[in-house]
Amino acid sequence: MFNNLTKNFSNAFAQLLGRDKIRDADFDTSMRDIRIALLEADVALPVVKELVDKIRARAIGEKIIDGVKAGEQIVKIFSDEITAILGGENKPVAKSGIIMMAGLNGTGKTTSAAKLAALLKKDGAKVLLASADTYRPQAREQLAILAEKAGIDSLPIIENETPEAIAKRALKAASNYDVMIFDTAGRLHIDDEMMTEIKSLKKILAPTEILLTIDAFAGQDALTLATQFNEALSLTGAIITRMDGDARGGVALSLFGATNIPVKFVGTGEKIDDLEAFHPDRTASRILGMGDIVSLVETAQEKIDDAEAERIAEQMFEGAFTFDTMLDHIRQIKKLGSASGIIKFLPGIGGLADRLQQAGMNDDSVKKQEAMILSMTKSERRNPDIILMGRKKRIAAGAGVSVNDVEKLIKQFEKSKKMMSGLKSMGGVKGIMEMMKNMQGGQP
Ligand code: GDP
Ligand code: MG
Repeated sequence: MFNNLTKNFSNAFAQLLGRDKIRDADFDTSMRDIRIALLEADVALPVVKELVDKIRARAIGEKIIDGVKAGEQIVKIFSDEITAILGGENKPVAKSGIIMMAGLNGTGKTTSAAKLAALLKKDGAKVLLASADTYRPQAREQLAILAEKAGIDSLPIIENETPEAIAKRALKAASNYDVMIFDTAGRLHIDDEMMTEIKSLKKILAPTEILLTIDAFAGQDALTLATQFNEALSLTGAIITRMDGDARGGVALSLFGATNIPVKFVGTGEKIDDLEAFHPDRTASRILGMGDIVSLVETAQEKIDDAEAERIAEQMFEGAFTFDTMLDHIRQIKKLGSASGIIKFLPGIGGLADRLQQAGMNDDSVKKQEAMILSMTKSERRNPDIILMGRKKRIAAGAGVSVNDVEKLIKQFEKSKKMMSGLKSMGGVKGIMEMMKNMQGGQP
């Protein structure tokens, strides 16, 4: 399905992989190739634009992780962003209540209804299938036959019943089941009559899920169609059918980004088992074909973030708190990019993040603070009490700041020192974590 796209992506990334540093011109070439590859796969233009813009912004803004090459990191950024635009995480379907199918003729409503019933049955649910397609001859029989083959109950067919009457009868029957999947009639094009009917069915059934089937071979107009269905029915998700064919797959890749309707399943064949839950992350890694690189970067990222943050958090409680300690913290926080990683290790302490900010650990003021501490002598750093007016003036001049700034720094230092000793008396990082665990009833 995404074969061409994968091939074009790997060509686009080939110019970046293995590089420690990436020249702007090479990055631009890659981004251009990626853009073309997405457009060739029939991904909607606004979605392509959003994706490329986000990757560019992150690639420029992110600091390079130690032990990871720049090219690999861009692959990871790309994987994150494509996962996000595909809907982030898998959105499971409800396992109880009523699931109503919607969609144009021939998009796979009936087949998908039966496939989904079989899938839920495997999960242990008691499922009823019902069809209100009274327009096409044999449409209801088609569902009944599929149901019987799969060993699933279906609502008995009564001739000359209206869709509304079927819905009411189905609703009664559904009380003996965990899930009822309700198949509806489609049209070749969306029309008022069809919408009026399906809206009144929705009113009767009050379904937990309304799933739209979309043919993977449908072009960009399927997005407009999906939007119209969504406006009329508030869809809870979509099933993209015929993903087994050689369609370019643009609809599947664009739907969430363009309409916010999550793809819940994809149809991958005509058989009853040919329905798969849709996982944005797996799809992204399949398209990229670079799962190894992505997990390598992820591991490096986590290792650094967690190890550094925990080490720094532990160190905060070691020894006496002096200006040297403060300088250490400032430098480590600068290296990490922000204080957020450390705060993760001091969970839930009321307003601690704010207090760290007040204590002068926000990114803006760290440079100034570093300069002031560097202007101090060794004994001043260890013993701040000796910093009287004369020394304050000297430090201010050395750091290119005002005496007022030095006084502020000393106040911040005192505050941090008090905070640290307070936290220390709670047993440091481990003690605080332990305490939080106890408070939350064993939850870490
Ligand atoms: P409906 O009119 O929306 O109810 O569509 P149907 O469920 O009757 O499906 C129309 C045709 O598409 C049938 O021949 C199905 O076997 C076929 N079909 C449905 N889903 C898939 C799929 O995921 N892959 C393939 N290859 N065929 C499918
Ligand atoms: Mg049908």
